[in-house]
Amino acid sequence: MTDRYAVIGNPIEQSKSPLIHTAFAQVTRQEMEYTKLLAPLDGFASVVDAFRASGGRGMNVTAPFKLDAFAYATDLAPSAQMAGAVNAMKFEGDKVYAENFDGVGLVRDVVHNLGCPLQGRRVLILGAGGATRGALLPILAQGPAEVVIVNRTVSKAQALAELAHQHQTGSVPVRGMGYDALGDQAFDVVLNATSASLTAELPPLSPSAFAPACLAYELAYGKGLTPFLQLARQAGVTRLADGVGMLAEQAAEAFAWWRGVRPDTAAVIAQLTVPLV
Ligand code: NDP
Repeated sequence: MTDRYAVIGNPIEQSKSPLIHTAFAQVTRQEMEYTKLLAPLDGFASVVDAFRASGGRGMNVTAPFKLDAFAYATDLAPSAQMAGAVNAMKFEGDKVYAENFDGVGLVRDVVHNLGCPLQGRRVLILGAGGATRGALLPILAQGPAEVVIVNRTVSKAQALAELAHQHQTGSVPVRGMGYDALGDQAFDVVLNATSASLTAELPPLSPSAFAPACLAYELAYGKGLTPFLQLARQAGVTRLADGVGMLAEQAAEAFAWWRGVRPDTAAVIAQLTVPLV
C-alpha cells in the first residue's frame, strides 16, 4: 500500500514541499504519496486527526501551525523543544513524534552545500523569531567563536541568548542586542533570519557588519537579490545565498526520518533556485 504524507498550512498553495518530496521519493524509489492539506485556522487538530485516521504516516507543518503542532505532539525532540515549534511529525499508533529540522537544514546548507565551516567563525543572526530559535542549537553545535543575535525588539534577542546559554552543551559566547549596539563589529557569517525580506524591507544593519570574505545568507528563498543581499553586495561581499538550500535540506532530514534513506538534494535545489540578481 502507498504510504501517505502531507504538508499542512494556511495558506498552502505556495508550498514547495509536495514537489520536493515527490522528487525525493522518485530518486530513492519509495512508494509514497505526498499532498497539500489546507486546514482552517482553528481546525489544525481535527484535520490532522482525520489524516491519521485514514492511515497518514507523517506531516510537514508550515505557517501558521508550527505552535499548534508543538501542542499536538506526544513526543517532542530536543530540536522542537528549543525552537518552541514543530515542522515535521511522524505518526506511530497513538504516538506523534515531532521534530524541527529548519535549523539543521540551515547548517547543512551553509557547511556542506556552500562549503562554509562555522567552526571558529563569528556568526551574526538578524532576527529573534522562530527561525532563529530553531537555528541556534545546530549553529552552536558547530563550535563558532561567537554568536550575536540582533533584533529590532532587543529583549527578544537577549532572552534567546540566555536560552541558548542554558541549552548548549559547549561554551560558545552568545549575546543578544539591538542593531545600534553592534557598533563596528564585523562577522564572518551574517544570517538574515528576519521576515523583513518578505515585504522587501531592510533591517537597520550597518554595512560594516560584513567582514571581508563573509558569507551573507538570506533565509527567505525565491526572492532574488533582497534588500539584505543588496546591502551585502554593496559592502563588497561576494558569497551570497538564499534559503532554497535550507528548504531542501530540512525536507531531506524529514524524508530520512520517515523513510530511513536520505535523498541527495542537488537536483531539487537546482530546480527551485531563483538567480540572485
Ligand atoms: P518570525 O515572524 O518568527 O520572526 C520575524 C523576525 O523578523 C522577528 O525577529 C522580527 O523582529 C523581525 N523583523 C520583521 N520585520 C523586520 C524589519 N522590517 N526590520 C527588522 N526586523 C524585522 O519569522 P520566522 O523566524 O518564522 O521567519 C524568518 C525568516 O526565515 C522568513 O523570511 C522566513 O521565510 C525564513 N524561513 C526560511 C526557511 C527556509 O526553509 N528557507 C524556514 C523558516 C523560515 P521583532 O521581534 O522586533 O518583531
